[in-house]
Amino acid sequence: MDSQRRQLHLFFLPYLAQGHMIPAIDMAKLFASKGLKISIVTTPLHASLLSKTIEKGKTLGFKLDVLIIEFPCVQVGLPNGFESYHMATSPDLRQKFLKATTILEHPLGELLQEHRPDCLVASVMFPWATVVARKFGIPRLIFHATSFFSICTSECLRLYEPHKNISSDSEPFIIPNFPNEIKLTRKQLPELFTQKVNDAGLMELYKQVIEAELTSYGAIFNSFYELEPAYADYYKRVLGRKAWHIGPVSLCNKENEDKARRGKEASIHGHECLKWLNSKEPNSVVYVCFGSMANFNDSQLMEIAMGLEASQQQFIWVVKREKNGGGKEEWLPEGFEKRVEGNGLIIRGWAPQVLILDHEAVGGFVTHCGWNSTLEGVAAGVPMVTWPVSAEQFYNEKLVTQVLRIGVGVGAQQWVRFLGDSIRREAIEKGLLRIMVGEEAEEMRSRARELGKMGNRAIEEGGSSYSDLNALIDNLRSHSFAVEE
Ligand code: UDP
Repeated sequence: MDSQRRQLHLFFLPYLAQGHMIPAIDMAKLFASKGLKISIVTTPLHASLLSKTIEKGKTLGFKLDVLIIEFPCVQVGLPNGFESYHMATSPDLRQKFLKATTILEHPLGELLQEHRPDCLVASVMFPWATVVARKFGIPRLIFHATSFFSICTSECLRLYEPHKNISSDSEPFIIPNFPNEIKLTRKQLPELFTQKVNDAGLMELYKQVIEAELTSYGAIFNSFYELEPAYADYYKRVLGRKAWHIGPVSLCNKENEDKARRGKEASIHGHECLKWLNSKEPNSVVYVCFGSMANFNDSQLMEIAMGLEASQQQFIWVVKREKNGGGKEEWLPEGFEKRVEGNGLIIRGWAPQVLILDHEAVGGFVTHCGWNSTLEGVAAGVPMVTWPVSAEQFYNEKLVTQVLRIGVGVGAQQWVRFLGDSIRREAIEKGLLRIMVGEEAEEMRSRARELGKMGNRAIEEGGSSYSDLNALIDNLRSHSFAVEE
């Protein structure tokens, strides 16, 4: 068979969380646009959220489909429909959720048996996928859903344990053998490093993740070389692992409709958002959003509202709260929306984030430093106020503020799952002014704009991500022939 014409078939198995699902779907579309056949393996809830994207892909001639596997909620003691990690808000629920994810190994094996794809791209959170893929003689690629920088940080912490040679949780330590001098404190580290994990299942999962990383075929990164060259090199040369960077993958969404349809159905119509933004001057609006998992309490939301108002900046603020039918909302200062009318827009629920960030009126981004949001902010060329909450977000903050120098920290010091550190209104106001007004803001904006241009160039023909995607496809093609022979 002619190796140029043979159609490769890839299975994608994203983790059941928006921060993994969204970039994985963008990646799937990228591969499909190159003529590969892509099957996304996921559960009924996520499949239903994807249906419009799949339909659209088909109209473009993509060979893109979804294969559904049941999530064993009932088997592990979770209610039906409990198919997303953001729902697992207590250690008990998390443990059950993680248990359920390991059971997916069996239905995945059956699908691999039936469809015999050429490669399995699976989330890092499914370490067992490497073994399953091996049974079928196909390569397993890991999708980390984060930066090279954060994986390198995490690996250096694991290997050299600098956090163990300090006397208090707030004493800074330097990451050893690192390209830049990066300081962290123990308070900012995930539970994995602070021994505060109270469930053995999670610790075991982390161990398996490390092992799978070392035994898999390689990793795909949603990043671009020019953004973090020292760390892409570090990952490959110093840690000795194979990787391909093919991002920013969000840039595969060219039309407004596609930008607005990532993840869930947005709580505001894209047109309404654009109409609001179209009435604003360039770089005059701050976008405030904390991803899909972080969920602040009422008093923190109140501080944000006060900080926004005090800064006198125009804003779009995304809050994970339902509108309560005109009644008083405890998390909002009295009369807030009336006072900021025309200058501030609150989106309750899910925002069309990329559509907003890409608008020229948006001149700053307050972000929790989830990797997708960070990279979407980079691609849009906007400076950021960094407000890490948990996961690997404190690492990404360092990349933004210290390496790229396109953002300022709001002052978050403590890793707290879903909730984060408490931040006062004065700090929020100060952060907003630093990225929106004055010389420092202009300098950050011009660096951010430059990086944004580089990100856009990376995915165009001849760009670093474009070339790496082609290199990966060629590599898989030759691998699948080697297996066939
Ligand atoms: N997102 C969105 N609308 C929202 C909140 C989040 O479209 O209201 C998207 C955002 O664009 C990003 C993803 O959800 O692609 C969140 O991923 P990230 O890694 O930033 O954070 P996580 O949700 O994993 O904490």
